[in-house]
Amino acid sequence: LMMLTRKLIEVRNILKTVDHESDSLTLPSIVVIGSQSSGKSSVLEAIVGHEFLPKGSNMVTRRPIELTLIHTPKSTANGGKTPVEYGEFPGMGTGRITDFGQIQKTLFDLNMAVPAEECVSDSPIELRIHSPHVPDLTMIDLPGYVQISSMDQPEQLREKISGLCEKYIQEPNIILAVCAADVDLANSPALRASRKVDPLGLRTIGVITKMDLVAPEIGSGLLSNNKYPLALGYVGVVCKTGMLSRFRSGGHDAHGEGNIGSSVTKQENDFFSANREHFKAPTRGRNAGVEPMTGTDTLRRRLMSVLEESMGSSLHTIANAVRMELEEASYQFKVQYNDRAISAESYVAETMDSLKLRFKDFATHFGKPEVRQLLKQALDDKVMDILAQLYWTDPRVKELGQLADDRKITPETLDRYWQHKLDASSSALTKSGVGRASTQLVVDAIRTQIEHLAQTEPFNHHPEAAERILAFSSAILRERFGLTADQVENCVKPFKYEVEVEPREWEAGRGRSVALVERELAMCDDALSRLKKAIGGRRLKGAMEYVAELEERDRRRAAARLKAVREAREGGSEQQAEQPQQDDDQSDPLRPDYNSALLIKAREARFLQNRSDVLQARMRSLQSKRCKTSPDSKAFCPEAFLNVVADKLTYTAVLFINIELVSEFLYQFPREIDSRLVYDLQREDLLKFARENPGVRRHLDLQSRKEKLGEAMGKLEALQAIYEERGGNARGG
Ligand code: GDP
Repeated sequence: LMMLTRKLIEVRNILKTVDHESDSLTLPSIVVIGSQSSGKSSVLEAIVGHEFLPKGSNMVTRRPIELTLIHTPKSTANGGKTPVEYGEFPGMGTGRITDFGQIQKTLFDLNMAVPAEECVSDSPIELRIHSPHVPDLTMIDLPGYVQISSMDQPEQLREKISGLCEKYIQEPNIILAVCAADVDLANSPALRASRKVDPLGLRTIGVITKMDLVAPEIGSGLLSNNKYPLALGYVGVVCKTGMLSRFRSGGHDAHGEGNIGSSVTKQENDFFSANREHFKAPTRGRNAGVEPMTGTDTLRRRLMSVLEESMGSSLHTIANAVRMELEEASYQFKVQYNDRAISAESYVAETMDSLKLRFKDFATHFGKPEVRQLLKQALDDKVMDILAQLYWTDPRVKELGQLADDRKITPETLDRYWQHKLDASSSALTKSGVGRASTQLVVDAIRTQIEHLAQTEPFNHHPEAAERILAFSSAILRERFGLTADQVENCVKPFKYEVEVEPREWEAGRGRSVALVERELAMCDDALSRLKKAIGGRRLKGAMEYVAELEERDRRRAAARLKAVREAREGGSEQQAEQPQQDDDQSDPLRPDYNSALLIKAREARFLQNRSDVLQARMRSLQSKRCKTSPDSKAFCPEAFLNVVADKLTYTAVLFINIELVSEFLYQFPREIDSRLVYDLQREDLLKFARENPGVRRHLDLQSRKEKLGEAMGKLEALQAIYEERGGNARGG
């Protein structure tokens, strides 16, 4: 029958990992409570047969320790080479620990990791001990009740511990109430707590420790179960920590699989044999013929049978509960996921594949033509800026149009002014750091795209992975940047000295510049008409005229002042220079309805008007016979020439950026995904990654819940079958 407890402990451990809302999925365990120093640890260690619990004066048990004892047969399959006695902390990946001192240290560290201000934590430590000397049991060790509050054990701690214990001593758990023989049972906080939840003591076993500290007749009186009766009775023990020495009574292990080695201390044995007559079954009274329960071995057997009975009576109920939960989980899994199973691995693989696929899509749309368009547009803008700065604001620009129309003027006889202007414009373009600027532009475009990839579903759930993607992308780009920029800069170098233009190139450039100037003109006119619309044509016109007047007046004043300064310098009189005699217009220039906001708009409108006029003139010039004829007319048509230069720069830049940067990036990125995102991941990283996605997490959770419930169900059904065959009592308790 030992098998039942053992199998149900397995089921219990499976069910514990199923995240369930109802308590109906809980199988009973033995919960050990008692006040500090009542001898709780000593009892537990006597049962296990090893010292393994943390010791110390300062509250060393701060978390529940969920102890699963697993009885292992003595001889093992591989010739006794595998350790038969060891502990393990499931979920911590410590593996088998054969040194119980090491277990003790680990438990100590885990407990001490609870910060002092928290006092106790209700997150349990799981510990499994495999040994031929232990029975199959599950026990939960809880922090000891605090008797007296003091400086380092405040009231708050006391309440926290009671709360924690109360949580654990609920049904269906069995309560092991530890009381010291030398302390009045009336003062035992363990018994008091137990009575609250189990008034008849139906699931409470009393353990009286330190029997050696009281006179044997008093001790046996405590065990007689008179004062605070418990249905499961009291067991008296002597098990002093540090005196643990195992000796096995002969042939104990030969009694079949249920029997385990004894770990009674010599002290305990000596004590009870020396006082045998006090612990005999009384001949008279209520307990006549019933021998009081004494000794650690008795306690273990008692625990085994109580747990087994409790588990047995839970079998039917728990099987029903698990069946219902399993049906619900299966139904949900079918409805929500159409029974589709996933794993962390499959999710990671899918995610990376889709990332690569989306990257590939980007790559096919980011070839030479796209890079070219990107750069050309930037350079076109630059050209327009240069033209605006050097030509369109030049008061003489209208002259240039007339010169172009004048047939007598040749490029050679054209005013040098225009030739210099052209050279300056060309330099402004070719010497503007095309290498860095164009590389930067492409780098930015790629980065933007990668940022986008790293933000789209499902990477929005995986900030760490997204971060990594950006990091390695940036690393590749950074590595290629300098080289690419230098290459481009080197290759555009000749254009800094001379740009040769073929007639075909000229015509193409002229065509493009016409389009650009046209677009500029359209924008200009558009802005102007918007202003007109907002302010009213007539009102704007009036304001513009007024602004023109003001400007004219300012111009005249400035001229007068200049003249005066000159005269003063020549005539030696300084007063005159300071005070221009009179203004030609003394009338108040501010008309009441022209506020400053309107005047700002009017100035803007005048600028736009002027720009529009210039652009129209330039359009005519670009369309003129001279501009159409040949590249020789470049000084007359700077727009066309600069466009050709920009085109040549673009061509060169694209060539090298494509080789040095884009192709490299497109090649390396998918490989980096594999090496930095996938190969790096350990099994638990994969799981962590997959679980970052809430949808996937729900899917995995439901799936694992279904699997675990299925596993538990399988075991329970097998147990039920055995029970029914034997006609055993699997009925509800
Ligand atoms: P816990 O704080 O409840 O875990 O108590 P411990 O097991 O650490 O025991 C408290 C003290 O009582 C220790 O000094 C033990 O050596 C001592 N002790 C425990 N059991 C016995 C016993 O049966 N007899 C005697 N004399 N001392 C005991």
